[in-house]
Amino acid sequence: MSVALALRDVHKRYGKTRALDGLSFEVPTGVLLGFLGPNGAGKTTTFRTILGLARPDRGVIEVLGMRVGPETNRIAKRVGAIVEEPGLYGFLSGRDNLVVAADTLGFGHGRIDGLLAFVELTGDADRKVAGYSKGMRQRLALAAALLGDPEMLFLDEPLDGLDPAGQSVLRDQLRRLVDEEGKTIVMSTHDLADVSQLADRVVVINRGKVVTEGTLEELTAGGDRVRVVVGAPDEARRVLAAAGFETDGAASEIWVTGSDGAGIVRALAEAGLYPSAVIPERRTLEEVFLRVTEESS
Ligand code: ADP
Repeated sequence: MSVALALRDVHKRYGKTRALDGLSFEVPTGVLLGFLGPNGAGKTTTFRTILGLARPDRGVIEVLGMRVGPETNRIAKRVGAIVEEPGLYGFLSGRDNLVVAADTLGFGHGRIDGLLAFVELTGDADRKVAGYSKGMRQRLALAAALLGDPEMLFLDEPLDGLDPAGQSVLRDQLRRLVDEEGKTIVMSTHDLADVSQLADRVVVINRGKVVTEGTLEELTAGGDRVRVVVGAPDEARRVLAAAGFETDGAASEIWVTGSDGAGIVRALAEAGLYPSAVIPERRTLEEVFLRVTEESS
């Protein structure tokens, strides 16, 4: 597994505020990472230090194997970003905005038409951006970030403020960039729904450090109960209680405290009861997020 981004013990203070306080994490190549945290957690500061827009007080950041600081200029040619308000000119058309951006960044114009089609703006390409919706502006900013065919994208709250239809279009485009083109995307958000619908992995930060990380599967595993589906629920309750399990739930729905699925099956089977399902409870991402951010506050 190659590593697209690595941060090691990155610190950044603004006066007395520790915006980043020993931040360390890695992002494997070819994944869409949801970079999650409450407001003020340090997400934007992280992006700014990765992109060389703010200098960390200490720590090491490597992007695509290159070190931020000495190699920032080389990195800039291979990554795209939307951080803070995308710098678009309202008095220019969508297409001309891309022409200006390409010229500024030193890229050719050859990809412009394809990118307009990719972000579904071909029909509006010659309209002034002043008349674009927020969703159209975000898509145009994405096209601009893709001008140099970057291997990696950093997107700060790209879905923020878009209506559901606009979010859905942008989500599809981001997934395609990862699934079909193998790009690595780091997308910050404070919205759990974005992450649960889109991300392969999640890093949650609070107060400038990582509080939890993993795949969605890993993060939501390990609830505190197991649900048992069995034909004779009342008898099953008695058997489980006799075997020392604590049960809960009304009528045919049986919840057993703990995570000993095998022990539950054994106790029931020994009494001649065979459960048709024994399902560990999953946490919702929201529960995980609230728990880790409260624990770290
Ligand atoms: P997020 O993007 O997760 O909302 P930020 O990275 O914007 O968080 O901010 C992290 C912390 O650093 C906050 O307490 C914020 O007030 C502070 N901060 C960020 N940028 C500056 C700055 N330029 N000057 C002073 N404080 C800043």
